[in-house]
Amino acid sequence: MPIKPDDNPLPIDELQRRTVPGMAYFAGTSVRRTFCDNCAFFTFEHTRTHRAGARCAKYFELTGRWHAAPLPPTTPACKYFKPASKSKKKNDER
Ligand code: SF4
Repeated sequence: MPIKPDDNPLPIDELQRRTVPGMAYFAGTSVRRTFCDNCAFFTFEHTRTHRAGARCAKYFELTGRWHAAPLPPTTPACKYFKPASKSKKKNDER
């Protein structure tokens, strides 16, 4: 796995500064203006209440565990970003 995508002009320390614990990869390594909130891996499925906050299912897939801290929805997306379907967005809003 590359440390930094070739098409990302940001230095590695800037990528690390932007990245939130529980992300599958560095923040801001996806297409511009995409955020975790719009990603298919951004989920509440680990909990029955939304109060506990969302987590990254790709992080779960890679590590085998849910991260303890919630993932802020406005976090700039990582390279694993996958656009969420409209039906998923509706379910998350409930
Ligand atoms: S963009 Fe998607 S895969 Fe990447 S950290 Fe955010 S929710 Fe996870």
